[in-house]
Amino acid sequence: MNSKKRACEEIGIYSEEYVLSADTSQDKLLALVDTLNQKDGIHGILVQLPLPAHIDEDAVINAISPYKDVDAFHPVNVGKIMIGNYNFAPCTPAGIMELIAESGIDIKGKECVVVGRSNIVGKPMSMLLLHSHGTVTICHSRTKNLAEITRRADILVAAVGRPEMITGDMVKEGAVVIDVGMNRLEDNKLVGDVHFESCEKKAAAITPVPGGVGPMTIAMLMKNTVKSARLK
Ligand code: NAP
Repeated sequence: MNSKKRACEEIGIYSEEYVLSADTSQDKLLALVDTLNQKDGIHGILVQLPLPAHIDEDAVINAISPYKDVDAFHPVNVGKIMIGNYNFAPCTPAGIMELIAESGIDIKGKECVVVGRSNIVGKPMSMLLLHSHGTVTICHSRTKNLAEITRRADILVAAVGRPEMITGDMVKEGAVVIDVGMNRLEDNKLVGDVHFESCEKKAAAITPVPGGVGPMTIAMLMKNTVKSARLK
């Protein structure tokens, strides 16, 4: 949360932070979301997930006004992303699309493999790649012969949450490898889902962890908030 607050300060976005205790009731949280929905000077609302077990995450996401849903998690915004006509791009996938574009990589016709099918990364990532005319395969925990599929990828996105599970032998020579993973090891070291050293040898381009996708996610959050204010 701190880095998001810092980013707001850096670019001159007014922000409010509500740190609630873990035993806060769902009703109290929903009431706060509603207050912020109504508040004129607020253009973006972000609820830091995951929430404690006694709170229904979907109920909270659904309570955020779609017009202030700068994370793009509300079902209305998810639907718009699916159709390809959206105001708020989902932050992590949008950041990845910017990285790809800035690197001069054309997605059209490329074999794109996304490992992970979560609502916040894997699924929207696959949609954005599809909208850019990639040929997209989505892998998950029940996928058989994962390495065989990842080795087909021209663009490989790992969003699994398993430290360094994508190894060099799973990557095609010349592939673009995007590491979304953020895994904290016992010694507190932060590593991605990609084993950087072995994959770097094969990849034409690869994102590091930390310093790759993470900062882009925050940048996209800022972009969505500014966009929301402009739309208002
Ligand atoms: P998630 O909700 O736990 O989803 C993980 C996905 O990986 C699931 O679809 C799961 O499959 C799949 N998976 C698990 N084990 C697998 C295996 N052995 N082989 C193939 N697929 C497997 O996680 P998430 O929220 O998408 O996040 C993924 C990672 O990205 C985490 O490390 C998270 O911290 C990081 N993250 C980073 C950013 C950023 O800004 N850099 C933003 C969001 C998340 P099933 O669906 O079958 O269970």
